[in-house]
Amino acid sequence: MTETPSSAFAAMAANDAAPPPLDRARDALFLDFDGTLAPLQDDPDTVWLPTGGDYTLQALSQALDGALAVVSGRDIRDLDRRIPGALWRAGGHGCDICAPGRHPSAWQPPAPDPLYQAVYALAAETQGARLESKGPILAIHYRANRTAGPALGAALAAMVADHPSYALQAGKCVYELKPAGASKARAVERLMAMPAFAGRRPVMIGDDVTDEDGMRAAIGLAGRAIKVGPGDSLATARLENPAHVWTWLEAQLP
Ligand SMILES: [Mg+2]
Repeated sequence: MTETPSSAFAAMAANDAAPPPLDRARDALFLDFDGTLAPLQDDPDTVWLPTGGDYTLQALSQALDGALAVVSGRDIRDLDRRIPGALWRAGGHGCDICAPGRHPSAWQPPAPDPLYQAVYALAAETQGARLESKGPILAIHYRANRTAGPALGAALAAMVADHPSYALQAGKCVYELKPAGASKARAVERLMAMPAFAGRRPVMIGDDVTDEDGMRAAIGLAGRAIKVGPGDSLATARLENPAHVWTWLEAQLP
């Protein structure tokens, strides 16, 4: 199964309107990390919350009675190092959810070995490609050699065709092979069933293709979505970049 950005929202163009303010009594907030709370970097290991960001997120979570989650494609163990443990965190595109005060287990199930071996060999023979193993998810980054994208995508699509329990997803200079059910829609839907979120209206903020799944789920649950940066989106409002996201988040504090 291959998921492409074009099929999901080709006809949709994000409204460039500024997002309306949060209703702190009624809304729940779902925040992507990379490209939303922090600018993308060539090395994902160097991406951290800006100074004071942890304080802002915790204060906003309190103002929302705990209905705030950071929803990322990162391995939950990696996300746990970058986001305060007082917040809800969802990693692996919804595979793993960590409640406030909890930390993820050190062990995560790996991807099937034949798939791992094939992707490892492809990454090794592709100049500028780097394989990141995130528990069951395999991410192939090619920001260092953007011209490699189409060939990598074709090779990975052929590989995933042999593994029906897996799906291929394209992102910004990254391809991810993930369990077919894993998506940010699942993360939003699972979290919205938790007492801290139930009955509220989800507001999803994100910059990339994977966030569109979360946006679709949020809109389907009577919520809304905000797109970060340029590009088509299901969202009905837009913020220009992570700095603008922080300005908006700080404006939502009591
Ligand atoms: Mg992102």
